[in-house]
Amino acid sequence: MQSQRLRRIGAYLFADLDRKQAELEAKGVDVINLGVGDPDLPTPPHIVHALEEGAQDPRTHRYPPYRGTAQFLQAAADWVMKRFGVRVDPEREVLALIGSKEGLAHLPWAVLNPSEVALVPDPGYPVYRSSTIMAEGEPVAMPLQADRGFLPDFDRIPHEVLGRARLIFLNYPNNPTGATADLEFFARAVEFARRHKLLLVHDNSYCEIAYDGYRPPSILEVDGAQEVAIELHSLSKAFNMTGWRVGFAVGNAEAVDALGTLKTNVDSGVFRAVQHAAVAALTGPQEVIAPTLATYRARRDRLVSALRSVGWSPPVPRATLYVWMPTPGGASSVAFAAEVLERTGVVITPGVGYGACGEGYVRLSLTTPDARLDEALDRIRSAYG
Ligand SMILES: *Cc1c(COP(=O)(O)O)cnc(C)c1O
Repeated sequence: MQSQRLRRIGAYLFADLDRKQAELEAKGVDVINLGVGDPDLPTPPHIVHALEEGAQDPRTHRYPPYRGTAQFLQAAADWVMKRFGVRVDPEREVLALIGSKEGLAHLPWAVLNPSEVALVPDPGYPVYRSSTIMAEGEPVAMPLQADRGFLPDFDRIPHEVLGRARLIFLNYPNNPTGATADLEFFARAVEFARRHKLLLVHDNSYCEIAYDGYRPPSILEVDGAQEVAIELHSLSKAFNMTGWRVGFAVGNAEAVDALGTLKTNVDSGVFRAVQHAAVAALTGPQEVIAPTLATYRARRDRLVSALRSVGWSPPVPRATLYVWMPTPGGASSVAFAAEVLERTGVVITPGVGYGACGEGYVRLSLTTPDARLDEALDRIRSAYG
């Protein structure tokens, strides 16, 4: 039934995980899922209230403007200015998205020709690769390795590949590694994209999820970045809004226009009431994020200390919702995750699910309610301690 393109993608990583979990649960096992990064805390009340208010207004019930409401585009531009000191034109350089995943999935369709190359981080969020395949492009992996802080080495990308490359995806703070990038790296990435005439797509879904005083930058802070880069933002992780499906693209006007034109042919925009709520999130008090971050930080510290107490070696991430841990003794990531699931009923994600270079790692997420996380850690301590 499936097209060749779809078959080339293979099963979505989390679909497999969900199935395995369901099988165990059917057998009566009380499974605790530390696999998926989906915030468990509720959306702040003023945002929910704005949705209610928006939904009560019959004017929101009709098709929204394709590229976003004027209020939403302005709120996004103002937020980018306030947060990063970057000035963007809300009409030409901002585009509403049905979540950043939607934008990532559609971008290659909008800008890539068949057999052109998209450089994708490995390990990486699976959508960069799958959307490239759907557009009949060729994803080429850029290995992210621990000894380089999980930053790609641009010098190691073969010349032949660069000649056919049109797109490069980056994502810092990074899912799944938890790595971060500074402006100096972003400046090198912008220069690299300029030299090789690439559109640089930066997925900044985690810019608000950082700890210990760290404030992740935008790639648009680099001088001239807007000539080559488009950045994707999401309200999902910052405001606990994964179910709402809203985000935005910002940056290079031609890329924004291409993506907008493609989307005009595919979807009909974000429900106006959701955009109204997103305006409340972007223009309202940003301090609402602090208690969420305090919760994740405390979980991170409990998780890391429990894993270290059984002799494992997780690093302490300063951003994202994830602990990216080398498997003990260099075990295969699938074998180790399967063993943990069997011995403890705890789901963790095999790193290889994010690409071949994720082999030898597992990802544990911080989005499980405190009591369940503590139960999972107790089980790990008694099984492995
Ligand atoms: C969660 C996530 C997204 C998707 O965010 P949505 O706005 O909910 O679509 C995109 N990129 C990365 C790296 C993510 O982890």
